[in-house]
Amino acid sequence: MIEPARLTVIGGGPGGYTAAFFAADLGMSVTLIDGAPDPGGVCLYRGCMPSKALLHVAKVLTEAKEAGQWGVSFGEPAIDLDRLRSWKSTVVSTLTSGLGQLARQRNVTYVQGRASLVDAHTARVALTTGGSQDVSFDHAILATGSRPARPATLAVEHERVMDSTAALEISRIPESLLVVGGGYIGLELGTVYAALGTEVSVVEMTSSVLPGVDSDLVRVMARRLAKTVHAIHVDTKVTNLAPNSEGVEVALDGPKVESSPARFDAVLVAVGRMPNSQIEGLDGTAARLDARGFVEVDGQRRTAEPSLFAIGDVAGEPMLAHKAFHEARVAVEAATGKRVAFEPQAVPAVVFTDPEIAWCGLTETAAKQDGRAVSISRFPWGASGRAITLGRPDGMTKIIVDPESESVLGVGIVGTGAGELIAEGVVAIEMGATISDLKECIHPHPTLSETVLESAESFLGLSTHIYKPKRS
Ligand code: FAD
Ligand code: NAD
Repeated sequence: MIEPARLTVIGGGPGGYTAAFFAADLGMSVTLIDGAPDPGGVCLYRGCMPSKALLHVAKVLTEAKEAGQWGVSFGEPAIDLDRLRSWKSTVVSTLTSGLGQLARQRNVTYVQGRASLVDAHTARVALTTGGSQDVSFDHAILATGSRPARPATLAVEHERVMDSTAALEISRIPESLLVVGGGYIGLELGTVYAALGTEVSVVEMTSSVLPGVDSDLVRVMARRLAKTVHAIHVDTKVTNLAPNSEGVEVALDGPKVESSPARFDAVLVAVGRMPNSQIEGLDGTAARLDARGFVEVDGQRRTAEPSLFAIGDVAGEPMLAHKAFHEARVAVEAATGKRVAFEPQAVPAVVFTDPEIAWCGLTETAAKQDGRAVSISRFPWGASGRAITLGRPDGMTKIIVDPESESVLGVGIVGTGAGELIAEGVVAIEMGATISDLKECIHPHPTLSETVLESAESFLGLSTHIYKPKRS
């Protein structure tokens, strides 16, 4: 029997480890259960961090290639895959072992194994080392995350047909790669493989890559993407995957498909993720799943079973690590009896393509869908001194404004480093800033952050670096 804990957390990803560490900081006794040797979850072991390490390499390769236009030539890159993989593994192990150390420093009992529920106050852990042990708790937080979705047509077991976990291994650099799904993972990992020299094609079943993201932002990114990848097929579906020793024969269906089947050296399936909500014993409690399989929670992230909370990917979209971080704190405080709620005004989203796309708060697309009147201001990066010094004028910063109060409702940015810049939008929205508040804040020069300032100025018809004739 593991020592009874006031809080037991099932799943050691960004949601789970944040909840465990925060609860320990508040003085609670905490047990954290996960199958890996150290906390980290999908994000650290096979998601955010290894993908961003590889995207950094992709950025260096691309910049080195493009430096030729400034008179600096490095020659053809020589890629040592063993060293690349080893560097990526070092990034992961540095981060996960650091989390292990932080758990020990906080006296969080970390148990390596797979948890099920015996009842609403007891978990059973099938230990990685063999055998099983029970742990009783006042409250438990389910933070079991998600896994890649594999619809029947794409559920083919073969080394040439990869999901994101296999693609992150970079076991080889395929000559050609078909990416099925033009979402976050498809475009980020497609960017990595294209930079490594693979001929990448993307198949997306909707009419645009990154469906749901404002089309003016996507257009800027897609223009460059079209130069780095071989082909982007929208409105297209894969109807069959047939791998063999030579490659993968792929049957494509869509109005613009010219030849099908087509052969690719490898295929990456990235068509979304599914919640890990089939936790054994959960159905014996009052907790319920929604139609898509997410654990149903209230504003405090509490399930219908009062002692159980759910956070992160298993508790609904957006499936983002920083959403999980924030929910973790709300759930822990709720477990201590505090009156708290998860009510963010602006959850940022960043797609780490080249250029990056980032947005927060209300999008133009959502405003249109809801029939909500908004005013929009756009600042093109061709007018940003900093963007030009970087050789990257392909960007835009837009602000979505309430026409009555002039408060900032949303911010969208496409351009190099957009993921860093979007935080200013989050702060503006959460602090209830108006467009004039943004205009009054001095931004450092020359930086890309000035594009936020100038977008605000442009809204008021006062941007220094773009000229808009006054309407008579
Ligand atoms: P997870 O990180 O999924 O962790 C859940 C953990 O619970 C896992 O370790 C799992 O093994 C464990 N578990 C499951 N069931 C049990 C059980 N019964 N007993 C014990 N343990 C169990 N998000 C971003 O915000 N930014 C990014 O840049 C980003 N990049 C990504 C790149 C890729 C390739 C992928 C796949 C995802 C990316 N994400 C990114 C999404 C991000 O990884 C998830 O949103 C985040 O990991 C969710 O955290 P979580 O705590 O809910 O669960
Ligand atoms: P996604 O939902 O972002 O994209 C999936 C895409 O596949 C969609 O555009 C969808 O229309 C398309 N699609 C679905 N079925 C298809 C089919 N049969 N044929 C062709 N296209 C099809 O999902 P993902 O890229 O797998 O990523 C999963 C989640 O992981 C993301 O939604 C996000 O929450 C998270 N993630 C975040 C980041 C980040 O924050 N930078 C990075 C990677 C993943």
